[in-house]
Amino acid sequence: MKVAIIGLGHMGMGMARNLVKAGHAVTAFDLAKPAMDAAAQAGMATAASGPQAAADVDVVITVLPAGKHVLAAYRGEHGDDGLLGAARKGTLFMDCSTIGVDETREAAGLAREAGQRAIDAPISGGMVGADDGTLTFMVGGDAADFDFVKPLTAAMGRHAVYCGDHGAGLIAKICNNMLLCINQIGAAEAFNLGARLGMDPKKLFEIFSTSTSQSWSVTTNSPVPGTVADAPSSHDFAPGAVPHTLAKDLGLAAKAMETAGYHCQLGSQARELYGQMTASKFAEQDFSGIINYLAWANDQGTTTG
Ligand code: NAD
Repeated sequence: MKVAIIGLGHMGMGMARNLVKAGHAVTAFDLAKPAMDAAAQAGMATAASGPQAAADVDVVITVLPAGKHVLAAYRGEHGDDGLLGAARKGTLFMDCSTIGVDETREAAGLAREAGQRAIDAPISGGMVGADDGTLTFMVGGDAADFDFVKPLTAAMGRHAVYCGDHGAGLIAKICNNMLLCINQIGAAEAFNLGARLGMDPKKLFEIFSTSTSQSWSVTTNSPVPGTVADAPSSHDFAPGAVPHTLAKDLGLAAKAMETAGYHCQLGSQARELYGQMTASKFAEQDFSGIINYLAWANDQGTTTG
């Protein structure tokens, strides 16, 4: 398939490389020159702008930081046509960014008005999943468009789930990330409490990873250095994903709670804690470093309750 990919950051670059590996013709665009150089080296065609990349392809994939970037790229910035205006009519727009449910529905509406097709296809699996081609895709939109991109999701991921109409992929993603953050904080609190009571954290890891408290936040993203070789904690908490990204996702969850008229107490507390971590000296650590932030905040006497 002919594919344009816009946004070659932590996630987009690995995804684009896997598309090339699977034999797809990839045209890439990112605002950052080092990303464009890396794309050329990886065998992608590089375009001078997003609209140029989108002009003659079957699918336009966007992997951008937030909703405002996706909407601006779709509509056009700096007086250009935007991706929607530049693409051939009937091109499928596949947005893999984590953005708001309302924003993705707005993007799908813009696409429809421009004579294009659109799906929301947010991703889970982190940078490792993007590099290894083991992402999970959560897709909202027409079922026929979900089927159309299967060769692409198969090249970039291990699972692709059709979630329902436009926005359903992001409902799934936002709920997934809220639960992830709650799990990561819960694991941190349990490890910290056990350690303060004198228990060896590695022993606690052995228990938590094989008992009823088991979760991805323990078995894969363990916050205890030396328990999981590939986990950020074993590499000085180098991200991974920084707390700012998770705080953004929890902000999307807060907006979704308002829309739904349902208040998630732990989700709201998780948002506060990741906001505090973002404003602290631990801001550049992986989000599993919440274990360090919570221990530090406790010793500073800055925790409540
Ligand atoms: P990133 O900041 O590493 O990459 C974003 C890239 O987009 C950058 O290279 C930037 O230069 C480029 N960009 C911004 N505006 C652009 C434009 N108008 N045209 C072209 N390029 C533009 O972000 P990331 O970590 O790759 O995340 C991308 C999206 O995926 C976000 O929505 C994020 O929430 C989501 N996500 C991230 C992770 C993760 O672990 N990092 C996991 C799942 C989902």
